[in-house]
Amino acid sequence: MTLGAPTASPPLSVTEHLDRILGSVTRLPAVTIPIAHALNLTLAEDVHAAVSVPSFDNSAMDGYALRRVDAAAATAETPVAFRVVADLPAGSAENPRLGSGEAARIMTGAAVPDDADCIVPIEDTDQGTQTVLISRAPQAAAHIRREGADVRTGDTVLTAGRVLGPRDLAAAAAVGVSDLSVYPAPRVGVLSTGSELREPGTPLERGQIHDSNSLLLAAMIAEGGGIPIQLGSVPDDNNAFEEILRTHADQVDAFVTSGGVSVGAYDIVKAVLAPLGVWFGPVRMQPGKPQGFGRFPVAGEPTTAATGPAIFALPGNPVSVFVSFEAFVRPALLTMAGRSQIFRYTQRVTTSVGWRSPAGRAQYMPTIVDWDDAGTASIRPATAGGSGSYLVASLAKANALALVPEDVTEVFAGDVLTVTLVS
Ligand code: AMP
Ligand code: MG
Repeated sequence: MTLGAPTASPPLSVTEHLDRILGSVTRLPAVTIPIAHALNLTLAEDVHAAVSVPSFDNSAMDGYALRRVDAAAATAETPVAFRVVADLPAGSAENPRLGSGEAARIMTGAAVPDDADCIVPIEDTDQGTQTVLISRAPQAAAHIRREGADVRTGDTVLTAGRVLGPRDLAAAAAVGVSDLSVYPAPRVGVLSTGSELREPGTPLERGQIHDSNSLLLAAMIAEGGGIPIQLGSVPDDNNAFEEILRTHADQVDAFVTSGGVSVGAYDIVKAVLAPLGVWFGPVRMQPGKPQGFGRFPVAGEPTTAATGPAIFALPGNPVSVFVSFEAFVRPALLTMAGRSQIFRYTQRVTTSVGWRSPAGRAQYMPTIVDWDDAGTASIRPATAGGSGSYLVASLAKANALALVPEDVTEVFAGDVLTVTLVS
Protein backbone atom coordinates (compact mmCIF):
# COMPACT_ATOMS: atom_id res chain seq x y z
CA MET A 1 0.00 0.00 0.00
CA THR A 2 1.11 3.55 -0.59
CA LEU A 3 0.56 5.99 2.25
CA GLY A 4 -0.30 9.59 1.31
CA ALA A 5 1.09 12.76 2.84
CA PRO A 6 -1.31 14.49 5.26
CA THR A 7 -3.68 16.86 3.47
CA ALA A 8 -6.35 19.25 4.66
CA SER A 9 -9.25 16.83 5.32
CA PRO A 10 -12.78 17.17 6.61
CA PRO A 11 -12.79 17.28 10.38
CA LEU A 12 -15.02 14.29 11.06
CA SER A 13 -13.91 10.69 10.59
CA VAL A 14 -16.38 7.86 9.89
CA THR A 15 -15.94 6.66 13.47
CA GLU A 16 -16.59 10.09 14.94
CA HIS A 17 -19.75 10.56 12.88
CA LEU A 18 -20.97 7.08 13.76
CA ASP A 19 -20.25 7.67 17.46
CA ARG A 20 -22.33 10.84 17.40
CA ILE A 21 -25.19 8.99 15.75
CA LEU A 22 -25.02 6.07 18.18
CA GLY A 23 -24.82 8.54 21.06
CA SER A 24 -28.08 10.06 19.90
CA VAL A 25 -30.28 7.03 19.20
CA THR A 26 -31.63 4.71 21.86
CA ARG A 27 -33.58 1.51 21.71
CA LEU A 28 -37.33 1.90 21.36
CA PRO A 29 -39.55 1.20 24.39
CA ALA A 30 -40.46 -2.48 24.71
CA VAL A 31 -43.93 -3.63 23.73
CA THR A 32 -45.84 -6.84 24.38
CA ILE A 33 -47.09 -8.55 21.24
CA PRO A 34 -48.42 -11.96 20.14
CA ILE A 35 -45.68 -14.52 19.39
CA ALA A 36 -46.78 -14.72 15.76
CA HIS A 37 -45.58 -11.15 15.19
CA ALA A 38 -42.25 -11.46 16.96
CA LEU A 39 -40.01 -12.97 14.26
CA ASN A 40 -36.63 -11.17 14.02
CA LEU A 41 -37.39 -8.85 16.95
CA THR A 42 -35.21 -8.64 20.04
CA LEU A 43 -36.58 -10.13 23.22
CA ALA A 44 -36.84 -7.56 26.03
CA GLU A 45 -37.59 -9.92 28.94
CA ASP A 46 -36.71 -13.53 29.73
CA VAL A 47 -39.35 -16.12 28.86
CA HIS A 48 -40.16 -18.69 31.54
CA ALA A 49 -42.04 -21.91 30.95
CA ALA A 50 -45.70 -21.62 31.99
CA VAL A 51 -46.05 -25.38 31.54
CA SER A 52 -43.54 -28.23 31.45
CA VAL A 53 -42.61 -29.87 28.17
CA PRO A 54 -43.83 -32.52 27.90
CA SER A 55 -46.61 -31.50 30.25
CA PHE A 56 -47.60 -35.15 30.89
CA ASP A 57 -45.99 -38.58 30.47
CA ASN A 58 -46.74 -39.65 26.92
CA SER A 59 -45.96 -42.39 24.48
CA ALA A 60 -42.99 -42.05 22.12
CA MET A 61 -44.30 -44.85 19.88
CA ASP A 62 -47.47 -46.28 18.42
CA GLY A 63 -47.92 -49.43 20.51
CA TYR A 64 -49.38 -50.82 23.71
CA ALA A 65 -49.18 -49.47 27.26
CA LEU A 66 -48.94 -52.15 29.91
CA ARG A 67 -47.19 -53.33 33.08
CA ARG A 68 -43.70 -54.50 32.23
CA VAL A 69 -43.70 -57.34 34.71
CA ASP A 70 -46.62 -59.00 32.87
CA ALA A 71 -44.60 -59.21 29.63
CA ALA A 72 -41.23 -60.13 31.14
CA ALA A 73 -41.29 -63.66 29.67
CA ALA A 74 -42.34 -62.61 26.15
CA THR A 75 -40.22 -63.85 23.21
CA ALA A 76 -40.93 -64.34 19.52
CA GLU A 77 -41.37 -68.09 20.16
CA THR A 78 -43.43 -67.69 23.32
CA PRO A 79 -45.47 -64.48 22.93
CA VAL A 80 -47.61 -63.31 25.84
CA ALA A 81 -51.29 -62.44 25.25
CA PHE A 82 -52.90 -59.27 26.72
CA ARG A 83 -56.52 -58.18 26.74
CA VAL A 84 -56.85 -54.75 25.01
CA VAL A 85 -59.11 -52.70 27.32
CA ALA A 86 -58.72 -49.18 25.84
CA ASP A 87 -57.72 -47.36 22.68
CA LEU A 88 -55.80 -44.11 23.24
CA PRO A 89 -55.24 -41.78 20.28
CA ALA A 90 -53.17 -38.59 20.81
CA GLY A 91 -55.36 -36.05 22.60
CA SER A 92 -57.38 -38.65 24.52
CA ALA A 93 -58.13 -37.59 28.11
CA GLU A 94 -58.78 -41.18 29.20
CA ASN A 95 -56.74 -42.77 31.99
CA PRO A 96 -57.93 -46.39 31.88
CA ARG A 97 -57.18 -48.71 34.82
CA LEU A 98 -54.98 -51.63 33.68
CA GLY A 99 -55.13 -54.88 35.57
CA SER A 100 -52.68 -57.75 35.26
CA GLY A 101 -52.64 -59.04 31.67
CA GLU A 102 -54.38 -55.91 30.37
CA ALA A 103 -53.04 -53.40 27.85
CA ALA A 104 -54.19 -50.16 26.21
CA ARG A 105 -53.52 -49.58 22.54
CA ILE A 106 -51.79 -46.18 22.44
CA MET A 107 -50.63 -43.78 19.73
CA THR A 108 -47.56 -41.50 19.75
CA GLY A 109 -48.16 -38.45 21.95
CA ALA A 110 -51.09 -39.92 23.90
CA ALA A 111 -50.97 -39.73 27.72
CA VAL A 112 -49.64 -42.95 29.25
CA PRO A 113 -52.14 -44.52 31.71
CA ASP A 114 -51.01 -44.23 35.35
CA ASP A 115 -51.16 -48.03 35.67
CA ALA A 116 -48.69 -48.65 32.79
CA ASP A 117 -44.92 -48.47 33.16
CA CYS A 118 -43.79 -49.13 29.61
CA ILE A 119 -44.82 -48.99 25.97
CA VAL A 120 -44.40 -51.98 23.66
CA PRO A 121 -44.08 -50.71 20.08
CA ILE A 122 -46.44 -52.25 17.52
CA GLU A 123 -43.41 -53.80 15.78
CA ASP A 124 -43.11 -56.18 18.79
CA THR A 125 -46.79 -57.23 18.63
CA ASP A 126 -49.38 -58.78 16.30
CA GLN A 127 -51.26 -55.45 16.42
CA GLY A 128 -54.42 -57.08 17.80
CA THR A 129 -57.34 -54.89 18.82
CA GLN A 130 -59.21 -57.30 21.17
CA THR A 131 -56.22 -59.26 22.38
CA VAL A 132 -52.65 -58.56 21.47
CA LEU A 133 -49.61 -60.88 21.40
CA ILE A 134 -46.42 -59.32 22.77
CA SER A 135 -43.34 -60.94 21.24
CA ARG A 136 -40.52 -59.21 23.06
CA ALA A 137 -39.95 -58.34 26.72
CA PRO A 138 -39.95 -54.54 27.17
CA GLN A 139 -37.20 -52.53 28.87
CA ALA A 140 -38.00 -50.54 32.02
CA ALA A 141 -39.95 -47.34 31.20
CA ALA A 142 -39.53 -48.12 27.50
CA HIS A 143 -40.73 -45.47 25.05
CA ILE A 144 -42.24 -43.14 27.64
CA ARG A 145 -41.46 -39.43 27.31
CA ARG A 146 -41.44 -38.15 30.87
CA GLU A 147 -43.19 -34.98 31.98
CA GLY A 148 -40.64 -32.12 32.17
CA ALA A 149 -37.91 -34.05 30.33
CA ASP A 150 -37.37 -31.05 28.05
CA VAL A 151 -38.17 -28.12 30.39
CA ARG A 152 -39.97 -27.73 33.70
CA THR A 153 -42.48 -25.07 34.67
CA GLY A 154 -40.62 -21.90 35.61
CA ASP A 155 -37.43 -22.75 33.69
CA THR A 156 -35.94 -19.92 31.63
CA VAL A 157 -36.48 -20.88 28.02
CA LEU A 158 -35.36 -17.70 26.20
CA THR A 159 -33.17 -14.93 27.58
CA ALA A 160 -33.60 -11.19 27.05
CA GLY A 161 -31.53 -9.85 24.17
CA ARG A 162 -32.13 -12.84 21.94
CA VAL A 163 -33.09 -12.10 18.34
CA LEU A 164 -36.16 -14.25 17.87
CA GLY A 165 -35.95 -16.89 15.15
CA PRO A 166 -38.46 -19.54 14.10
CA ARG A 167 -37.35 -22.05 16.77
CA ASP A 168 -37.58 -19.44 19.53
CA LEU A 169 -41.20 -18.74 18.60
CA ALA A 170 -41.93 -22.48 18.65
CA ALA A 171 -40.24 -22.85 22.05
CA ALA A 172 -42.32 -19.99 23.50
CA ALA A 173 -45.53 -21.52 22.17
CA ALA A 174 -44.60 -24.98 23.48
CA VAL A 175 -44.08 -23.71 27.04
CA GLY A 176 -47.50 -22.07 27.12
CA VAL A 177 -46.55 -18.47 26.40
CA SER A 178 -48.71 -16.46 24.00
CA ASP A 179 -47.23 -12.94 24.16
CA LEU A 180 -43.64 -11.71 24.23
CA SER A 181 -42.05 -8.48 25.42
CA VAL A 182 -39.89 -7.23 22.54
CA TYR A 183 -38.25 -4.10 21.20
CA PRO A 184 -40.30 -3.09 18.17
CA ALA A 185 -38.87 -2.71 14.69
CA PRO A 186 -38.22 0.97 13.97
CA ARG A 187 -40.58 2.55 11.43
CA VAL A 188 -38.48 4.43 8.93
CA GLY A 189 -39.79 6.97 6.43
CA VAL A 190 -37.88 6.89 3.12
CA LEU A 191 -37.89 10.04 1.00
CA SER A 192 -35.96 10.67 -2.21
CA THR A 193 -35.33 14.20 -3.40
CA GLY A 194 -34.59 15.45 -6.89
CA SER A 195 -36.57 17.10 -9.68
CA GLU A 196 -34.95 14.62 -12.09
CA LEU A 197 -36.51 11.56 -10.44
CA ARG A 198 -39.22 9.45 -12.03
CA GLU A 199 -40.93 6.29 -10.78
CA PRO A 200 -39.33 3.04 -11.97
CA GLY A 201 -40.99 1.94 -15.21
CA THR A 202 -41.83 5.48 -16.34
CA PRO A 203 -40.33 6.45 -19.73
CA LEU A 204 -37.59 9.03 -19.25
CA GLU A 205 -37.26 12.40 -20.92
CA ARG A 206 -33.95 14.17 -21.32
CA GLY A 207 -32.34 14.85 -17.93
CA GLN A 208 -34.56 12.45 -15.98
CA ILE A 209 -33.54 9.26 -14.13
CA HIS A 210 -35.39 6.50 -12.34
CA ASP A 211 -35.62 6.74 -8.57
CA SER A 212 -33.62 3.72 -7.46
CA ASN A 213 -32.69 5.02 -4.00
CA SER A 214 -36.21 4.62 -2.62
CA LEU A 215 -36.16 0.91 -3.38
CA LEU A 216 -32.58 0.47 -2.26
CA LEU A 217 -33.25 2.14 1.09
CA ALA A 218 -36.60 0.47 1.73
CA ALA A 219 -35.09 -2.94 1.02
CA MET A 220 -32.03 -2.32 3.20
CA ILE A 221 -34.26 -1.08 6.02
CA ALA A 222 -36.39 -4.22 5.78
CA GLU A 223 -33.25 -6.42 5.66
CA GLY A 224 -31.89 -4.55 8.68
CA GLY A 225 -34.96 -5.28 10.77
CA GLY A 226 -36.84 -2.01 10.25
CA ILE A 227 -40.22 -1.25 8.74
CA PRO A 228 -39.81 0.96 5.66
CA ILE A 229 -42.48 3.53 4.95
CA GLN A 230 -42.12 4.71 1.37
CA LEU A 231 -42.80 8.41 1.08
CA GLY A 232 -41.91 8.53 -2.63
CA SER A 233 -39.86 11.35 -4.08
CA VAL A 234 -40.20 15.11 -3.99
CA PRO A 235 -38.85 17.64 -6.48
CA ASP A 236 -36.18 20.07 -5.33
CA ASP A 237 -38.64 22.35 -3.61
CA ASN A 238 -38.13 23.38 0.02
CA ASN A 239 -41.80 23.52 0.91
CA ALA A 240 -42.74 20.19 -0.67
CA PHE A 241 -39.87 18.50 1.16
CA GLU A 242 -40.62 20.03 4.55
CA GLU A 243 -44.35 19.40 4.21
CA ILE A 244 -43.96 15.67 3.66
CA LEU A 245 -41.63 15.32 6.66
CA ARG A 246 -44.03 17.30 8.88
CA THR A 247 -46.94 15.15 7.79
CA HIS A 248 -45.19 11.92 8.78
CA ALA A 249 -43.01 13.01 11.70
CA ASP A 250 -45.32 11.58 14.34
CA GLN A 251 -45.67 8.24 12.52
CA VAL A 252 -42.02 7.27 12.22
CA ASP A 253 -39.03 6.59 14.44
CA ALA A 254 -36.58 7.79 11.80
CA PHE A 255 -36.38 9.35 8.36
CA VAL A 256 -33.83 8.51 5.70
CA THR A 257 -33.62 10.98 2.84
CA SER A 258 -31.36 10.86 -0.20
CA GLY A 259 -29.99 13.71 -2.29
CA GLY A 260 -29.79 17.42 -1.75
CA VAL A 261 -27.08 17.52 0.90
CA SER A 262 -24.12 18.95 -0.97
CA VAL A 263 -23.35 22.52 -1.81
CA GLY A 264 -25.33 22.80 -5.07
CA ALA A 265 -27.86 25.54 -5.73
CA TYR A 266 -30.78 23.11 -5.31
CA ASP A 267 -29.61 21.21 -2.25
CA ILE A 268 -32.92 21.59 -0.50
CA VAL A 269 -32.45 18.98 2.21
CA LYS A 270 -29.69 20.97 3.80
CA ALA A 271 -31.50 24.25 3.16
CA VAL A 272 -34.59 23.04 5.05
CA LEU A 273 -33.03 20.95 7.82
CA ALA A 274 -29.92 22.89 8.80
CA PRO A 275 -31.99 25.77 10.25
CA LEU A 276 -33.92 23.15 12.28
CA GLY A 277 -30.72 22.05 13.98
CA VAL A 278 -29.77 19.06 11.83
CA TRP A 279 -26.00 18.74 11.46
CA PHE A 280 -24.52 18.80 7.95
CA GLY A 281 -20.91 18.39 7.02
CA PRO A 282 -18.31 16.37 5.26
CA VAL A 283 -17.14 13.04 6.64
CA ARG A 284 -13.73 11.65 5.73
CA MET A 285 -15.00 8.87 3.48
CA GLN A 286 -15.42 7.99 -0.17
CA PRO A 287 -18.09 7.69 -1.41
CA GLY A 288 -20.53 9.35 0.99
CA LYS A 289 -18.66 12.50 1.97
CA PRO A 290 -21.62 14.88 2.46
CA GLN A 291 -23.73 13.68 5.39
CA GLY A 292 -26.51 15.07 7.53
CA PHE A 293 -27.80 13.74 10.84
CA GLY A 294 -30.04 15.06 13.58
CA ARG A 295 -33.65 15.01 14.71
CA PHE A 296 -36.69 16.30 12.95
CA PRO A 297 -38.78 18.38 15.35
CA VAL A 298 -42.33 17.18 15.91
CA ALA A 299 -45.01 19.88 15.62
CA GLY A 300 -45.53 21.77 18.85
CA GLU A 301 -42.18 20.83 20.34
CA PRO A 302 -39.25 23.23 20.57
CA THR A 303 -36.89 22.76 17.64
CA THR A 304 -34.01 22.09 19.98
CA ALA A 305 -35.70 19.10 21.66
CA ALA A 306 -34.02 15.80 20.83
CA THR A 307 -37.35 14.05 20.80
CA GLY A 308 -38.39 13.92 17.16
CA PRO A 309 -37.53 11.11 14.77
CA ALA A 310 -33.86 10.69 13.91
CA ILE A 311 -33.14 11.96 10.42
CA PHE A 312 -30.38 10.59 8.24
CA ALA A 313 -29.81 12.91 5.27
CA LEU A 314 -27.72 10.86 2.85
CA PRO A 315 -26.18 12.00 -0.42
CA GLY A 316 -28.02 11.19 -3.66
CA ASN A 317 -25.67 8.93 -5.53
CA PRO A 318 -26.88 5.35 -5.15
CA VAL A 319 -23.48 3.91 -4.26
CA SER A 320 -23.09 6.66 -1.64
CA VAL A 321 -26.54 5.75 -0.32
CA PHE A 322 -25.56 2.11 -0.02
CA VAL A 323 -22.25 2.86 1.71
CA SER A 324 -23.78 5.48 4.03
CA PHE A 325 -26.56 3.11 5.02
CA GLU A 326 -24.08 0.34 5.83
CA ALA A 327 -21.78 2.69 7.74
CA PHE A 328 -24.30 4.75 9.71
CA VAL A 329 -27.99 3.92 9.29
CA ARG A 330 -27.93 0.16 9.75
CA PRO A 331 -26.08 0.21 13.11
CA ALA A 332 -28.43 2.96 14.32
CA LEU A 333 -31.59 1.09 13.31
CA LEU A 334 -30.31 -2.09 14.94
CA THR A 335 -29.66 -0.09 18.13
CA MET A 336 -33.23 1.19 18.03
CA ALA A 337 -34.41 -2.39 17.56
CA GLY A 338 -32.64 -3.39 20.78
CA ARG A 339 -29.88 -5.43 19.16
CA SER A 340 -26.54 -5.74 20.90
CA GLN A 341 -24.79 -7.03 17.76
CA ILE A 342 -25.11 -3.96 15.52
CA PHE A 343 -22.14 -4.47 13.22
CA ARG A 344 -21.65 -7.04 10.52
CA TYR A 345 -18.79 -9.50 10.82
CA THR A 346 -15.63 -8.46 9.01
CA GLN A 347 -12.76 -10.53 7.75
CA ARG A 348 -9.31 -9.83 6.37
CA VAL A 349 -9.09 -10.71 2.67
CA THR A 350 -6.34 -10.41 0.08
CA THR A 351 -7.14 -8.34 -2.99
CA SER A 352 -6.32 -9.80 -6.41
CA VAL A 353 -6.07 -6.38 -8.12
CA GLY A 354 -5.00 -2.87 -7.14
CA TRP A 355 -6.71 0.52 -7.30
CA ARG A 356 -6.25 4.09 -6.17
CA SER A 357 -7.82 5.61 -3.07
CA PRO A 358 -8.11 9.28 -2.07
CA ALA A 359 -5.72 10.59 0.57
CA GLY A 360 -7.30 11.48 3.89
CA ARG A 361 -10.57 9.62 3.29
CA ALA A 362 -11.64 6.10 4.21
CA GLN A 363 -12.64 4.39 0.98
CA TYR A 364 -15.48 1.90 0.84
CA MET A 365 -14.97 -0.18 -2.29
CA PRO A 366 -17.86 -2.37 -3.43
CA THR A 367 -16.17 -5.68 -4.13
CA ILE A 368 -16.83 -9.22 -5.23
CA VAL A 369 -15.46 -11.95 -2.98
CA ASP A 370 -14.25 -15.00 -4.89
CA TRP A 371 -13.39 -18.31 -3.24
CA ASP A 372 -10.89 -20.65 -4.86
CA ASP A 373 -11.10 -24.45 -4.78
CA ALA A 374 -9.20 -24.52 -1.49
CA GLY A 375 -11.78 -22.16 0.03
CA THR A 376 -9.41 -19.16 0.18
CA ALA A 377 -11.14 -15.81 -0.41
CA SER A 378 -9.91 -12.94 -2.55
CA ILE A 379 -11.57 -9.67 -3.54
CA ARG A 380 -11.77 -7.48 -6.64
CA PRO A 381 -13.75 -4.28 -7.26
CA ALA A 382 -17.31 -4.96 -8.39
CA THR A 383 -17.45 -2.02 -10.76
CA ALA A 384 -15.12 -1.03 -13.56
CA GLY A 385 -15.16 2.51 -12.24
CA GLY A 386 -14.04 1.53 -8.76
CA SER A 387 -16.03 3.20 -6.03
CA GLY A 388 -17.64 5.68 -8.48
CA SER A 389 -20.81 6.65 -6.75
CA TYR A 390 -23.17 6.65 -9.75
CA LEU A 391 -22.52 3.01 -10.74
CA VAL A 392 -25.79 1.67 -9.41
CA ALA A 393 -26.32 -1.13 -11.92
CA SER A 394 -22.87 -2.64 -11.29
CA LEU A 395 -23.35 -2.25 -7.55
CA ALA A 396 -25.69 -5.24 -7.64
CA LYS A 397 -22.71 -7.50 -8.39
CA ALA A 398 -20.94 -6.58 -5.15
CA ASN A 399 -21.27 -8.91 -2.18
CA ALA A 400 -18.84 -7.07 0.08
CA LEU A 401 -17.39 -3.71 0.99
CA ALA A 402 -13.63 -3.42 1.30
CA LEU A 403 -12.38 -0.71 3.61
CA VAL A 404 -9.25 1.18 2.55
CA PRO A 405 -7.83 3.18 5.47
CA GLU A 406 -7.70 6.98 5.29
CA ASP A 407 -3.96 7.25 4.84
CA VAL A 408 -3.68 4.78 1.95
CA THR A 409 -3.55 6.25 -1.56
CA GLU A 410 -2.94 3.08 -3.52
CA VAL A 411 -3.88 -0.53 -2.97
CA PHE A 412 -1.76 -3.21 -4.65
CA ALA A 413 -2.64 -6.77 -5.61
CA GLY A 414 -1.72 -8.93 -2.62
CA ASP A 415 -2.64 -6.30 -0.01
CA VAL A 416 -4.90 -7.50 2.79
CA LEU A 417 -7.98 -5.38 3.54
CA THR A 418 -10.81 -5.51 6.06
CA VAL A 419 -13.91 -6.68 4.24
CA THR A 420 -17.55 -6.67 5.30
CA LEU A 421 -19.75 -9.28 3.64
CA VAL A 422 -23.04 -7.60 2.84
CA SER A 423 -24.94 -10.41 1.10
P1 AMP B 1 -27.66 15.03 -5.22
O1 AMP B 1 -26.98 14.57 -3.96
O2 AMP B 1 -29.08 15.39 -5.01
O3 AMP B 1 -26.87 16.09 -5.88
O4 AMP B 1 -27.64 13.78 -6.18
C1 AMP B 1 -26.42 13.22 -6.60
C2 AMP B 1 -26.62 12.29 -7.76
O5 AMP B 1 -27.44 11.19 -7.39
C3 AMP B 1 -27.30 12.91 -8.96
O6 AMP B 1 -26.69 12.40 -10.14
C4 AMP B 1 -28.72 12.43 -8.82
O7 AMP B 1 -29.39 12.39 -10.05
C5 AMP B 1 -28.55 11.05 -8.25
N1 AMP B 1 -29.72 10.69 -7.47
C6 AMP B 1 -30.30 11.46 -6.53
N2 AMP B 1 -31.38 10.85 -6.02
C7 AMP B 1 -31.49 9.67 -6.66
C8 AMP B 1 -32.43 8.60 -6.58
N3 AMP B 1 -33.46 8.65 -5.73
N4 AMP B 1 -32.25 7.52 -7.36
C9 AMP B 1 -31.19 7.49 -8.21
N5 AMP B 1 -30.28 8.46 -8.33
C10 AMP B 1 -30.43 9.55 -7.58
MG1 MG C 1 -30.45 16.26 -6.04
